Amino acid sequence: MDKRVMLDVVNLVKHFPVKHDRRAVVHAVDDVSFSVERGRVFGLVGESGCGKSTCARTIIRIYEPTSGSIIVDGEDYASKPERELSPLRRKMQMIFQDPYSSLNARMTVHDIIAEPLRAHGICASRRETGEAVRDALEGVGLSGKHADRYAHEFSGGQRQRIGIARALIMRPEIIICDEPISALDVSIQAQVVNMLRDFQERFSLTYLFIAHDLSMVRYVSDVIGVMYLGKLVEVCPAAEIYEDPLHPYTQGLLRAVPIPSRRGAPRTERAIEGDIPSPIHPPSGCRFHTRCRRRMPVCEELSPPLKQLEGGRGVACHLY
Ligand code: SF4
Repeated sequence: MDKRVMLDVVNLVKHFPVKHDRRAVVHAVDDVSFSVERGRVFGLVGESGCGKSTCARTIIRIYEPTSGSIIVDGEDYASKPERELSPLRRKMQMIFQDPYSSLNARMTVHDIIAEPLRAHGICASRRETGEAVRDALEGVGLSGKHADRYAHEFSGGQRQRIGIARALIMRPEIIICDEPISALDVSIQAQVVNMLRDFQERFSLTYLFIAHDLSMVRYVSDVIGVMYLGKLVEVCPAAEIYEDPLHPYTQGLLRAVPIPSRRGAPRTERAIEGDIPSPIHPPSGCRFHTRCRRRMPVCEELSPPLKQLEGGRGVACHLY
């Protein structure tokens, strides 16, 4: 395995202004750091609203970072102007959560898939573009004949395959998969995950795989990062996090994963109490202290840094 770091995110911050309060900001991503080696899968997990999708969109520069570094294959793209982002856009592609809204309804499948090729001036002739689109469609199990149709003529699973073909046609090195199966029927989720896993292995792709629960990333990730209210609270090799979660929030997320039951519907143990607080006024100290069963007086005062432990683990909690 090539140990070269492909993606190095350092102290990334993304704040959004609040419409009716000029002094307030939404603390969507606060001081997040992690790295992903080439050909590895980093699963980023957390409840809805924890900042994981904003983090992904900031890394690919859909959103302008507030501060921090986004180092891709040795080059920092965090503060480069849009006109200098072409190498980033070629190296890094994104597969979006909702295949219903992420594909332009007015464009044919051919135009959707060929769009990034045109934007980067990659295919010289119409014939070359047509062949590349046909190969991309066949690569995701669709037919070249589908190229003249529109996205609405396809099922959710087929649309997500079109989204994958669009990402892969650029031959990227990193793919950000932003909850790529959560909008799909349960019956086809496994097919799409298996396809993504297959491409990842075949082309030694590096993935940042976003999901809202730990069960979804279990079989695809090498390393898992857990986010809570804009902060990375735990990083751990995937094999260990399910056996020995350290952070109380990770432990709560795992309790919320449904356990198969012999008596019918899957059983879910007590999840995390309370709602995720507002990212405009996040709690002082440890942001999880308002919901943590193990909180101590220090937790309200001091924000715990992500402490590096043995075995590639890291945890942000005063208990460690
Ligand atoms: Fe709980 Fe305190 Fe650890 Fe935060 S720092 S997770 S409040 S024990």
